Amino acid sequence: MSTKQVVRPKIRSFICVSAHPEGCAAHVREQADYIRAQKPLRNGPRSVLILGASTGYGLASRIALAYGCRAATLGVFFEKPCENGRPASAGWYNTAAFESNAHRDGIWAKSLNGDAFSEEIKERTISLIKKEMPKIDLVIYSLASPRRVDPATGITHRSVLKPVEKPFSSKTLDTDKHVVEEITISPASEEEVADTIKVMGGEDWLLWMNALDEAGVLAEGCNSVAYSYIGPEVTWPVYKNGTIGRAKKDLERAARAIDALLKIHRGRAFISVNKAVVTQASSAIPVVPLYIALLFKVMKQHNLHEDCIQQVWRLFSTQIYNDNFLDFDEAGRVRLDDWELSKAVQEEVFSLWPSVTTENLNELTDYAGYQNNFLKLFGFGIPEIDYDAEVEIDVPIALA
Ligand code: NAD
Repeated sequence: MSTKQVVRPKIRSFICVSAHPEGCAAHVREQADYIRAQKPLRNGPRSVLILGASTGYGLASRIALAYGCRAATLGVFFEKPCENGRPASAGWYNTAAFESNAHRDGIWAKSLNGDAFSEEIKERTISLIKKEMPKIDLVIYSLASPRRVDPATGITHRSVLKPVEKPFSSKTLDTDKHVVEEITISPASEEEVADTIKVMGGEDWLLWMNALDEAGVLAEGCNSVAYSYIGPEVTWPVYKNGTIGRAKKDLERAARAIDALLKIHRGRAFISVNKAVVTQASSAIPVVPLYIALLFKVMKQHNLHEDCIQQVWRLFSTQIYNDNFLDFDEAGRVRLDDWELSKAVQEEVFSLWPSVTTENLNELTDYAGYQNNFLKLFGFGIPEIDYDAEVEIDVPIALA
């Protein structure tokens, strides 16, 4: 079967099931170019483990550290290679492009594709670090997954995006039909709350850090960061106070436990609360895409717009690897959502919120920007790419 074909977006609900290899490579290049244009990090990490390294915030972190201070990065993710004439997933193509550029530029980079929640991947990661890398001085936890098999019990837990205790009704945007409508989401059962905590809470991050510590692969002064979100009050019933918010609370519990562990090595662990961006994970959350479309409009008008790469660069250059070190909020978290949640931005977003309808969606919000961003996640809508041309879809990654 030929592995050259014309690849077009195939959108199914809030996901695109095809990905364009050259478009993904262009998106990775654009992020690397942004970092190359910044002043290099003076005392950045040398050896970094990124869990969830192939898309969104994890990929941006990987690019920022490889190009911001030539850090060696080991990326772990769960992506699909090209199979049976079907293109690989976007994260696969992103990684293939990142690695081939990094190797060309003399920057060490290796990847493991598999289930980061499993003991097997933890063991393979540790053995690779022991053989090939200096001890790890930064661990980034950026997994976003709908399910997790608990390695202790073999039970599969599925996360849900639901309110807790009470039903929640709100305006939302159906990004498939481009329609603004009302939705009502029923509250999660106790079991669903517990399952979501199992998947997106802190248990696995703690398992990783304990395993890395016990194997003796963490360097003196090793730091670890996991990403979280809080957002505006209008999304709280389904986000901050919903099932995912419960999981994020649990992530904070894990951050405190890991911080205590890393302090022994003169390092620290903390949560970075990032801004809302379009990623595969955020496009699945009810209400959030409409809010992001409005947020983009307002933040672009105020010249405050950021995507993953600008956010993580702000994290590394002004927080973790800044001489003054971290500027924590009252709960010990770094706040990269400060511009998003500023009074001026929020007041403007919510003065527009009640008036948005299907008819004025493109006028009142930056839905076009939202859609561009969404397509770009899968390598589409990039001006320099010829989408009518056949491309090689079987792009290899030299997996470890
Ligand atoms: P994403 O969907 O772009 O990335 C998820 C990553 O996890 C991918 O690399 C994927 O391959 C990997 N992954 C998923 N399941 C895996 C598994 N079982 N084993 C190995 N790898 C697996 O998501 P994202 O939006 O970048 O989210 C990353 C983190 O950032 C999450 O904690 C999320 O809550 C947080 N965050 C996101 C936003 C946002 O607006 N998107 C805002 C703030 C914080």
